[in-house]
Amino acid sequence: MKLWSSVYKSSLVLGVIVLLGCGGQAASSPVPQQTGGPAPSSAPEFASHIIQNAKIYTLNPQQPWAQAIAIKDNRIIFVGSNEGVKQFVEQATQVEDAKGKMLLPGIHDVHSHAIENYGFQFSLDNSREDIEHTLEQIIAADQANPGFGWLIGYNHLLESVMQAGISPMLLLDDILPHRPAIIMDNSSHSMWVNSLALELLGLDDHSADPLGGFLGREVKTGKLNGILFDNAGNIALDLAFKQIQADREEAYQVLVNFTLPEYARYGITSTLDARTFWQRGDHYTWLRAAEEQALTMRVSVALWAYPELDDKQQLAALKQAYNLQAEDLLRIDHVKLYMDGVVENTTAALNQPYLIKPWGDVRAMPDNKGLNYFTQTRLEKYLTELEPIGFDFLIHAIGDRGIHQALNGIEKASSGKNRHQLTHLQLIDPKDIARFKGLNVTADIQVAGEDEQLHHWYLDSLGAERANRQHPLKSLQDSGANLTLSSDWTVSSLNPFVGMKKAVTRKYQALTLKQAIEAYTINGAYALSQEALVGSLEVGKRADLIMLDRNLFEIKAEHINQTKVLKTMVDGMVVYQK
Ligand SMILES: [Zn+2]
Repeated sequence: MKLWSSVYKSSLVLGVIVLLGCGGQAASSPVPQQTGGPAPSSAPEFASHIIQNAKIYTLNPQQPWAQAIAIKDNRIIFVGSNEGVKQFVEQATQVEDAKGKMLLPGIHDVHSHAIENYGFQFSLDNSREDIEHTLEQIIAADQANPGFGWLIGYNHLLESVMQAGISPMLLLDDILPHRPAIIMDNSSHSMWVNSLALELLGLDDHSADPLGGFLGREVKTGKLNGILFDNAGNIALDLAFKQIQADREEAYQVLVNFTLPEYARYGITSTLDARTFWQRGDHYTWLRAAEEQALTMRVSVALWAYPELDDKQQLAALKQAYNLQAEDLLRIDHVKLYMDGVVENTTAALNQPYLIKPWGDVRAMPDNKGLNYFTQTRLEKYLTELEPIGFDFLIHAIGDRGIHQALNGIEKASSGKNRHQLTHLQLIDPKDIARFKGLNVTADIQVAGEDEQLHHWYLDSLGAERANRQHPLKSLQDSGANLTLSSDWTVSSLNPFVGMKKAVTRKYQALTLKQAIEAYTINGAYALSQEALVGSLEVGKRADLIMLDRNLFEIKAEHINQTKVLKTMVDGMVVYQK
């Protein structure tokens, strides 16, 4: 608590408010005059840093390739030939020979979870699916974190827990009779708890399902089985964190010492933190990182809209948080909300029912078409209230019904000036594909984790017709929509070259390499309203760039995932060097 309030106070005292401006509008305005091109002949500018003998893929359609780039402090003052860059050299200029290596604009990962990796006492190795292996690890975690308070972990496979043939709650009760425990599955869309946890959460066999989630039950008896699906699990984890008073100092140290270096190592220079839990104070952790100049990438924060909160209270809190706008590399300018759940839990909102019941015995639901975290009407209310403040929305939408409702909500309530995004887009009604461009809504998709082995599950739950048209990258690209690719880390690999390879090598609806690179750079910059600032390498823009160990256009597509980043530069500063 102390930390948050001191951070809050210092941000007010220093008055470090809104340098980048107000979300949607800021970067869509032209590049400011002082960041313009090389000065006229009379007063040549000199570079602080030059990289020459490079293969620079600029993402600027007027000048797709170049050999050399000159940077003065944090901005690009020249992009062109080795010969042309000479005029910017003075004695103090650092001249670097790239020896033919490829340069790209920095990667935009417009959907990742950089700050959710604290508070957990253990993570499970789920490479083996047998439940005994999982239980052994939980026993070890209990011994490593002794006591009677909460035991909090993550990363089990829900499927292996559900298939153990015994109530998941009893499995945990057996090894943890003495303390409450909560474990998040590897998709983050369900929590596994024991009896003591249910007791502390105030849940019993007569409890009703919360908004946006449901309580797993034994079909025969109706008793709780210890699996809390979707928002039922989110609420539970929040309460557990509150009771252990998850350590904000730990959150900060993990962010600065582990997470940010990982992003830099993978060449990620901009991200959208896709679900910032403001009730836990996670936005203050970002503010602290900005104020202590520890940020090594540009960050937009997407504050989580909790389904279970009262609208009046929540809208006021979100508006208040927007006013904490930091500086330079950090903006608090997005809201994250979920329209629906996930196909794996049969909670993604569909037009036609799922073909199976979830996990056989979780609940008996005839004609289950999934659920909503937010209804279309409530989305409209939030848009109407929060767009004028400057917020853009990142909307989780997976099923065809959820996606349709999200588009309807934007069509009805948005001014049309904002840069909203729909993310995941697993199953889209083909009739809705053209609406993204029409409504200026970015289509954001993750394909890095696409897995042939998982496909059988989609065939069972959705049927072949629906299962075989998931994630329609090419149709969205061809429709003219602003298409982005992202990691959703830690759900799948943070390495953008894993997703890039997948996008160009998947068996259907693949992108060209050029399109995939655009999806990770300039399109991401557009989605975050900063395409006038970054996203391509052109004179006047900020120096956010990466150097690679190979030229993506000269290697086999199968090898794209092996690409290594040699150097990452953000705002003219080298933040990673191999
Ligand atoms: Zn996510």
